[in-house]
Amino acid sequence: MPARLEEIENAEEEGIRFRFLTVPVRFLGDERGWVKGMECIKMRLGEPDESGRRRPVPIEGSEFLMDVDTVVIAIGQTPNPIIQRTTKGLKTTRWGTIIVNDGTGKTSKKGVYAGGDVVSGAATVISAMGAGKKAARSIHRYVMRKKKSKDKQRSVTRVSC
Ligand SMILES: Cc1cc2nc3c(=O)[nH]c(=O)nc-3n(C[C@H](O)[C@H](O)[C@H](O)COP(=O)(O)OP(=O)(O)OC[C@H]3O[C@@H](n4cnc5c(N)ncnc54)[C@H](O)[C@@H]3O)c2cc1C
Repeated sequence: MPARLEEIENAEEEGIRFRFLTVPVRFLGDERGWVKGMECIKMRLGEPDESGRRRPVPIEGSEFLMDVDTVVIAIGQTPNPIIQRTTKGLKTTRWGTIIVNDGTGKTSKKGVYAGGDVVSGAATVISAMGAGKKAARSIHRYVMRKKKSKDKQRSVTRVSC
């Protein structure tokens, strides 16, 4: 589990119960569409794969139901793939993070800047804030350059009339 030991301890102190090697299979709703249950299956650690990691394998017949009234799905820390899939010309790494010019946050797409976890991968609030500031400065320069060239164009047009 990608969390610090103290975070796990704090969560347990606050009443969170972890269920390791357990995976949700489906959610059950009532007649009004409200969630009322969750079917889970127990897992066991299988043989190590080529990376040496023992992958979880479902234990057949171990499905069980849990009564729930709220479900928060929070799995993984990788970027949402929708951005790359829907934004033509945006270069990304094989992990789905956006490639930028480090100093400016400029992406491969004109006028598009990025920063934070979607660029660095899972990191910290402070580094996301830093990247946001850098990108904001670069965006300001980009917009001002555009404005200047538009103003220049306008004055040339006026002179030539
Ligand atoms: C459990 C957990 C604990 C953490 N604890 C700490 C900690 O103690 N200290 C610390 O410094 N950092 C911590 N972090 C890391 C920190 O939360 C992140 O590094 C930080 O939030 C990154 O900021 P961000 O703005 O890049 O991304 P995010 O905060 O993830 O913001 C991205 C936003 O974009 C939205 N979004 C995504 N896709 C789209 C889309 N297609 N269209 C529109 N909006 C979209 C998302 O909904 C989200 O609101 C923790 C992270 C996790 C998961």
